[in-house]
Amino acid sequence: MELKLDIADTLIPSINCTKPLLIAGPCAVETEQQVMDVAIRLAHIGIKVFRAGIWKPRTRPNAFEGVGSEGLEWLRRVKKEIGMKIAIEVANSKHVDEALKNEIDILWIGARTTANPFAVQELADSLKGVDVTVLVKNPVNPEIELWIGALERFNATGIKKLGAIHRGFSSYGKSPYRNDPHWQIPIELRRRIPELPIINDPSHICGKRELIMELCQTAIDLDFDGLMLEAHCDPNNALSDASQQITPEELEYIINNIVLRKQYIENEDAEILEELRLYIDKLDEDVIQLIEQRMNIVEKIYLAIHEESIKRQKTVMN
Ligand code: PEP
Ligand code: MN
Repeated sequence: MELKLDIADTLIPSINCTKPLLIAGPCAVETEQQVMDVAIRLAHIGIKVFRAGIWKPRTRPNAFEGVGSEGLEWLRRVKKEIGMKIAIEVANSKHVDEALKNEIDILWIGARTTANPFAVQELADSLKGVDVTVLVKNPVNPEIELWIGALERFNATGIKKLGAIHRGFSSYGKSPYRNDPHWQIPIELRRRIPELPIINDPSHICGKRELIMELCQTAIDLDFDGLMLEAHCDPNNALSDASQQITPEELEYIINNIVLRKQYIENEDAEILEELRLYIDKLDEDVIQLIEQRMNIVEKIYLAIHEESIKRQKTVMN
């Protein structure tokens, strides 16, 4: 069933850039100097929207939980002095109040928050009558209804500049990704709400910078509307998500090397076919990964059953 949300066709035009929309910035605001340095370098490579976490939802306590409200002043400087639009994560109504007071342009809802309908409803209520852009990350668990439910809650309280961010899904066990992409879920979201812009967040999907380029290309091939990437001037010493952040210059390299769809797709039929082929490739990758997980379990069972005889063989050979 296709779902109808009331979405203004203004997300990308209002940011005054062409598709794909690029959003970049550090995982977290750390110091005024760090924010200004990375923002200047990102603006220099043409990034118009600056992302940064003020309050960080950490899995374990005692990790860096963000600088808090103080950092909003520094983001105001980025907006006023460099002219970038600013995006931050909000998780409760206090965050919303502070963000609006500081003229933040885009609010994003983190994956842990989207998974909680109470929190989402509180946020939606606190945004009633406010004309701001809201981007909803997918919930941590692979459940499309929860993602759509959150989008509906914001839309119902009047948010029309709405978009989704695909950041992958938690899973148990070994995987090359920090959060498995399950591409079929954002593709299904596009089928259900065709007018909704969907942005890909390769940084949180891969968890390590080596895979970012490849994920960006897949997202562009699958016709995502934009990319949100974590960038830092000194990624290895970042206070959060160090292994997935890249420098502005590495980001520039990626942007310059992504092949845009219109460069190789001649017409609409070819475009649909190409998308379906890619979708099959992604499903194949999921199947291969599942078979690998199955093999690992079979191997564990074999080792458990034959542990004794393997030990005996080893002693005889020694
Ligand atoms: C982030 O964007 O820095 C973040 C915490 O993301 P997520 O909610 O996707 O984990
Ligand atoms: Mn992060």
